[in-house]
Amino acid sequence: MKRRDFMHASLIGGASLVLSGCRRDEKENIYGINFNKGKKTKLTLATSWPAAFPIMGTGIENFAKRCLDLSGGTLDIKIYSKDILVPALQVFDATSSGQIDAFHSGVYYWKGKNSAFSIFGGVPLRHTSEEMMTWMDFGGGYELWREMYDRFNLYPHIGGTTGPQMGGWFKKEIKSLDDLQGLKIRMPGIGGEVLQRLGATPVLLAAAEIYTALERGLIDASEWVGPYLDNMMGFPKIAPYYYKGWHEPGSVLEITFNKQKWGKLSNEHRAIIEAAASEMNTKINEEFRYKNALAFDELEEKINLREFSSEIMDAIKVALDQVLKDEAQKNPDFKRVLQSHENFYKLNKKWDDISTKHFLNIRS
Ligand code: CA
Repeated sequence: MKRRDFMHASLIGGASLVLSGCRRDEKENIYGINFNKGKKTKLTLATSWPAAFPIMGTGIENFAKRCLDLSGGTLDIKIYSKDILVPALQVFDATSSGQIDAFHSGVYYWKGKNSAFSIFGGVPLRHTSEEMMTWMDFGGGYELWREMYDRFNLYPHIGGTTGPQMGGWFKKEIKSLDDLQGLKIRMPGIGGEVLQRLGATPVLLAAAEIYTALERGLIDASEWVGPYLDNMMGFPKIAPYYYKGWHEPGSVLEITFNKQKWGKLSNEHRAIIEAAASEMNTKINEEFRYKNALAFDELEEKINLREFSSEIMDAIKVALDQVLKDEAQKNPDFKRVLQSHENFYKLNKKWDDISTKHFLNIRS
């Protein structure tokens, strides 16, 4: 847009703000604070987290409270922690069938439904949390996600992002590719597939089982999230080497609704949920950042921080490209979503390299 056009558009924007201010007054006269015509709507939402689980569990509880407050008490979303109404990893199916109205979970859990869903959860060595949000809102991510979830009768929103995750806790140092051979590591998703190609054995374990498996030597290593939640799991006590991350640069959580239920909500309630979900996403991201920073500050002296060698990282990059290429050949949905994801990655990387990355490199 030329500067003159921009100035013109800005003036029009200013004028419309004044006008919309008038309209808002009129609306308030019509609706007052009588949200949803005073009719109370109750929804049931199940999560994949234990009750009051830090950040994710408390985040969704706050979301429900915000919906209640913002709606003048007319939108009442009852949160059920994992395994109360449905098992933790059946929340997708239970919402799809209408048994419950909504769920809060991690997107990467559902790659068995459609491998393309793993991209909406995050791809190793690609988008950070901020990039994922931008791709969703402006780069075509939401359109594809909603189109593909529609086949399962679901309507998704981002419900939080973890920020960069760590590479995991290892009982022994990983100095070369040889050290990965036969290594039993708890790592789900595309990251696990990549390590498998390099000779490791990814193991799927529920959160509650990881500590004991690592302590008893049933597995040699485990990734979890970052310093705050990892420390709560007790990993520093049993696996001394903590590796910097590569596999989850910014994983996405979701708050997803049964499509019919979503369609039957009033415009007001849908708008309130969208606003509260967006707020929850921001707060969860900030809380991860803050609590990880505090936890790392405490842990720094007590752990052995490591980084994978360039030999290992080069092999990881080659294996990752192959995993993505192979899946794109098998699944046309995966191919489409990956293309959109990569398009934004390439576009944004040029800008990020001279802006964010530049600042991070030059500041002291
Ligand atoms: Ca993780």
